[in-house]
Amino acid sequence: MPHPGILIIGASQAGAQVAASLREGGSTAPVTLVGAEPRLPYQRPPLSKAFLTGRATEESLLLRSADYYRDHDIDVVTGERVTDIALDADGTGTATTRSGRSFGFGGLALTTGGTPRRLTVPGAGLDGVLHLRDIDDALRLRGALDAARNVVVVGGGFIGLEAAAVARALGKEVVVVEALDRLLARAVAPVTSDFYRAAHERRGARVLLDRGVVGFEGDGTQVTSVALSDGSDVPADLVLVGIGLVPHTELAERLGLRVEAGIVVDACGRTSDPRVVAAGDCTSLDTGDGRVVRIESVGNAVAQARVAAGTLAGSPAPLAAVPWFWSDQADLKLQIAGLGTGHDTVVVRGDASSESFSVLYFREGGIIAVDAVNAPRDYMVVKRVLETGGSLPLDRVGDTGTALKDLMVRSA
Ligand code: ADP
Repeated sequence: MPHPGILIIGASQAGAQVAASLREGGSTAPVTLVGAEPRLPYQRPPLSKAFLTGRATEESLLLRSADYYRDHDIDVVTGERVTDIALDADGTGTATTRSGRSFGFGGLALTTGGTPRRLTVPGAGLDGVLHLRDIDDALRLRGALDAARNVVVVGGGFIGLEAAAVARALGKEVVVVEALDRLLARAVAPVTSDFYRAAHERRGARVLLDRGVVGFEGDGTQVTSVALSDGSDVPADLVLVGIGLVPHTELAERLGLRVEAGIVVDACGRTSDPRVVAAGDCTSLDTGDGRVVRIESVGNAVAQARVAAGTLAGSPAPLAAVPWFWSDQADLKLQIAGLGTGHDTVVVRGDASSESFSVLYFREGGIIAVDAVNAPRDYMVVKRVLETGGSLPLDRVGDTGTALKDLMVRSA
């Protein structure tokens, strides 16, 4: 007899959603959610936004209350890191934590997230060189920001730029160092990158592109400056390194699952062993057409977790959600719908210098994504078109005299 219980490893946004979706789908199986962090699952996005500025409390970040888990018979085990796992031929497995606790299971979901990528240059271990992923990181960063004068942000991605905006709003001297020739290169087209560079510079930050960090100097314990690859030194009493995420794939590797920059899952959340599902930042999605893509976002974590729960409950249904994402930097609200990768044309709607505009991505004449900056209506329209299979005319979307919704062509 296989074990009746479902074990979810990683008490994250994705992990909590797998548990909740199992119950919403009517599963009565015993569900255990085990996580290394000492707290109930919480939202991470505010950590580089409202929580960093002190506008959000720890309590307000919780995804669900302790009562919710109790009422839904979900056993949440916090402060326990699973370090070993084994799966028998009949699908029954055992997971063991660092402290020696073990959990048997008949169904397994991996929602293990990841850890911030570290720089391996000299001085990277100095005090004041920080990363941002969990609440403890954010509390440390918040405290350090209070005292800092010169802040260097390494990495011009979303986390780096959001934190840079917070630091600048607090009146700190801020320098952003990005290795590539533009900001946010992973996610947006050059026109959006250029806008963000100019917007951060307008707000008083310095943005240095095409430069890496070769080392950190300190006074013995505390960082005092950052040495860049162009030979220059930038003073710093606080450095935030935001250069991406390394997914936690160790347990998947132990189980012999396929891993390509993340635990590879199909559209139903199945790993290469169909008895095991995975969701969220620890995964790479096999799109079924020869591509394996990583999508790091809350929207993706929740959508993947829902389909993974369906698969665990024996009713797999492929992911249909349109990817979406947002980023708040100063008073700029960026909303992204769809995936712009593979576009052949972009159309800018509105005037970027007004700080309210959108960038629409097309492939072979069809809309595939939008970056909307302080333009929520454009975001909503494109999202709806992507969800419903309608279209937008490439040659007319740049005309701001016509509301985008009036250009929408519904699918037949
Ligand atoms: P995050 O979630 O940490 O914001 P992203 O992938 O969105 O991650 O952004 C990370 C950014 O850091 C990218 O723009 C990438 O080009 C940049 N980057 C990576 N390595 C370095 C480095 N050594 N120095 C400076 N920038 C880097």
